[in-house]
Amino acid sequence: MNIILLGPPGAGKGTQAQRLVTARSMVQLSTGDMLRAARTSGTEMGKVVADVMDRGDLVTDEIVIGLIREQLETRDAPGGFIFDGFPRTLAQADALAALLDEVGQSLDTVIELQVDDDVLVSRIVGRAEAARAAGQPVRADDNEESLRTRLFAYYKQTAPLIGYYYAKGLHTGIDGMGSIDEVAASAAQALD
Ligand code: AMP
Repeated sequence: MNIILLGPPGAGKGTQAQRLVTARSMVQLSTGDMLRAARTSGTEMGKVVADVMDRGDLVTDEIVIGLIREQLETRDAPGGFIFDGFPRTLAQADALAALLDEVGQSLDTVIELQVDDDVLVSRIVGRAEAARAAGQPVRADDNEESLRTRLFAYYKQTAPLIGYYYAKGLHTGIDGMGSIDEVAASAAQALD
């Protein structure tokens, strides 16, 4: 089963993806994680995307589609893939459909984690404070200004995917404001 976790920054996509990896042996494909890894290892692409990411804007479709293509062509996922933070634009959604088709697969469900804006802001501020308290690095884009840009990018470029997948009969919205366990239970229900 191949699924997309859709939702604004701070909605809990990464956390829920981790749960599904553990519970269902699925493979998480997070373009955000891939881009951060490219930055840490100092690749050319990592250097190109650094400023864009720190500002909270989206990197080009070409770059993220290339990352996903590489994963789909090389990784084996008997339990299926979880697309986390991808696609984020309509062009990426079309590219994903074509890529899955090329490897003989398809998309089963899109789960949209629905969370109010004020909760998103407090979760992201909380994530930065928790990292600081634990002496761990704070994401460069977990600050108020970048967060505003990320939310704007979400509503402008990514939210249209809700209608796109709804029209294909693939969209399920779930309440993302409960505890991690509650949201995981709703996600499980949407998948079974
Ligand atoms: P995330 O960890 O998913 O919140 O992503 C962090 C940042 O990486 C985003 O704010 C974007 O700058 C970039 N990014 C991640 N995934 C994508 C994507 N699918 N398309 C464009 N930019 C992305």
